[in-house]
Amino acid sequence: MAVGGWIQKFLKLSCNEYLVEVPVAFITEPLLRVWLIEDTHRPFPKEGFKLLCHDTNQSGNRVAIIEETAQIFYYLSHARYITTKEGMRAMKRKYDFELFGTCPRVHCENQPLLPVGLHDSPAKSYMKCFCPKCRDIYRPPPGSPALDGAAFGTSFPHLFLQNYLEICPHKPQNSYIPRISGFKIHKDAPELKHYHNTSNTR
Ligand SMILES: [Zn+2]
Repeated sequence: MAVGGWIQKFLKLSCNEYLVEVPVAFITEPLLRVWLIEDTHRPFPKEGFKLLCHDTNQSGNRVAIIEETAQIFYYLSHARYITTKEGMRAMKRKYDFELFGTCPRVHCENQPLLPVGLHDSPAKSYMKCFCPKCRDIYRPPPGSPALDGAAFGTSFPHLFLQNYLEICPHKPQNSYIPRISGFKIHKDAPELKHYHNTSNTR
């Protein structure tokens, strides 16, 4: 079977449309290979690595575990690859198509979002979307695949924007001002006092 065949099949799954293709040569780079196999403490690391890079045939009752190890190795490799020049270029094409959705905040005016993880370790949280304009995070658009956030990591959107300063938006000029009957709510109103008191205790 062709080298890298597992990756192509993995990326064809509709749940992986947010991922770019990581070259096998990148994954097999010695430092990354050693880290994946020795330091991530996944079960069947060598078998998982071989499956990921060489699409080796697996059999027996451990197939599902090896497959999961290969997937997690791909996510971790992906998080590193998308911070390289080539990886960022591939992600930029997805960003330009607004594949990650647009910010639901009205005053962000449909600003395209970028994927981000809340953790760099796998199996801790699903991918979130970062808005470069309001600089907050959101759940992916309804119907989006639930991808492990470690496939993108915590640093990606910020490194991406530093690399593509020309698409880094300015801070939004407007924000929503709550009103009652057309009047701004006074800072001493019970609603605002409650809001500020509870936010101070978090
Ligand atoms: Zn926003």
